[in-house]
Parts: sequence; C-alpha cells; structure tokens
Amino acid sequence: MSLFKLGMLGKRDVIIGWSECEFCETWGENKSYTARRCLYFFSIPIWPLSGRVRAIMHCSVCSGAQHMPIAIVKEQVVKARQTVEEIVAAIEVGQDVFDCDGKDQPCLITLTELVQLIISFDDIEYLEDVCDRLYSANYMCAHHCVRGKVLEFLGQGPAAAEAYLQAIEAEPKETHALFLLGEILMHTGNFKEAEQYYVKAHRLAPDDIFLVQPLLEVYENTEEHEKNADIYETCFCLVPRLVHEEWMVENYHGVCEHVGRTPVVG
Ligand SMILES: [Zn+2]
Repeated sequence: MSLFKLGMLGKRDVIIGWSECEFCETWGENKSYTARRCLYFFSIPIWPLSGRVRAIMHCSVCSGAQHMPIAIVKEQVVKARQTVEEIVAAIEVGQDVFDCDGKDQPCLITLTELVQLIISFDDIEYLEDVCDRLYSANYMCAHHCVRGKVLEFLGQGPAAAEAYLQAIEAEPKETHALFLLGEILMHTGNFKEAEQYYVKAHRLAPDDIFLVQPLLEVYENTEEHEKNADIYETCFCLVPRLVHEEWMVENYHGVCEHVGRTPVVG
C-alpha cells in the first residue's frame, strides 16, 4: 500500500445533491465542491498539484466525479444559462423543441436535465429565478417540472413527487412529467405506483423507447415476469438492434423461462 495518495484540499462551496451517478449508475448522495488537488502523505497534505478545481457530483459510492478547472466552470455556467434562456424563449412561443447547434432538442427534457448540473455549479439562485418566470408566464407544467427536479436533487423526494403531480395536473398528456414522477417513485421503491405513470406515458407515446424501457426495471422488481416478457418484446420491436445486447436477451430468456414462454428473440 502506498503511503502517498491523492486528495482534495480546502473544500468550499459544498453542495450536497441526490442523483444517479454517471459512473456507477447508483442512485444516491453526491457532493460538489471547489478544492485543490493535493498529494497526501498518510493524511498530511504535502504538495498541492493544481489550481482550484470544482468536483462535480462526487459520488459517495464509487468516488467518481468530474473535475473542472474554475475557468471552465465559469464558461459552463454561462453556456448552461444561455441554453436555459433559449429553452424558455422557445416555450414562450409555444414550441416543444428548441434549436441546439442546428438540431432540434426537446425543451422540457433538456431543461430538467440541466437542473442538477446548474445546482452543482453553485448556481441554484438562477434556477429559482427561471422557476419564478415560468410561473409568472403561466407555464405551469414546465415550472413544476423544474421545481420538482430541484427538490429531487436537494433530497426532498416526497415534495418533488408532489411537484411532478402538479405538472401532470397542468398538462396530463406531458409524457416527460409522467416519466419524472415514475422515476422518483422507483428511487423510493414504490414500483407499483411508478408503473401506472410509466404505463400512461407509454400509451401516450408508444414508439418512445425511453418511456417503455423503465418498465423492465419495474416488472423485475415486482416479479411480474409475463408483463416483463411483453415489455422486452416491445423494446426489441421498437429498436431492433437491441437484439444484439447480450444482457437484454439473456434477461429476456430468463423471464420467459420463469413463465414457460417460448422466446421470440435470440
Ligand atoms: Zn458512483
């Protein structure tokens, strides 16, 4: 065992968040902070190695994190704000998509995906301002989705679920709000409750693989193998290249075996 190790010195502007880790895919607590990389001898810092960097969503399970030099963080904050402004402007003229480098991207999905990154950049006040503006302009679904995502990241699961419910009340056919509610219910182990929102979303957009795939995890947890086999087949039908995903075909065969069904794939 080496007596020297790398660590972070002088952590500040710490933000504690909850999200799925991009490295180990575990749902759990993470920390974002500004610090200096340093070489330690036992637990004694002996040699600072770089200028200050920001660790983004340092995972408490696998210790994975992105490290960004402060100058880059500042650029990213400006870029994230610009993207949010473009999305809000598109929402204001009644569009579901906005132009992102010449490509149409979905407004609501991109907006809610940016939330955790913006908070981990220590820019939550900006999101509160965006939330207020969406509320004042009466874009209630987007307002509640952003608010829910902020609450979710801050570890306030029940309040976030309530916000997503309000988003669905505002726009019952908004599949992303249904997806967000299903997702947070999954994280809290409410699989049967999550199922109803995922099923609704899937019915509204039957060709969207991202809305049907979460049901695999739902039925795996509720051990509803017949339904699970149906969903695997829907996935293979929607995205034929998935038949080359070994893990998927293997799981599908396992599920079929459970219920004595002949697999139609693999
Ligand atoms: Zn992790």
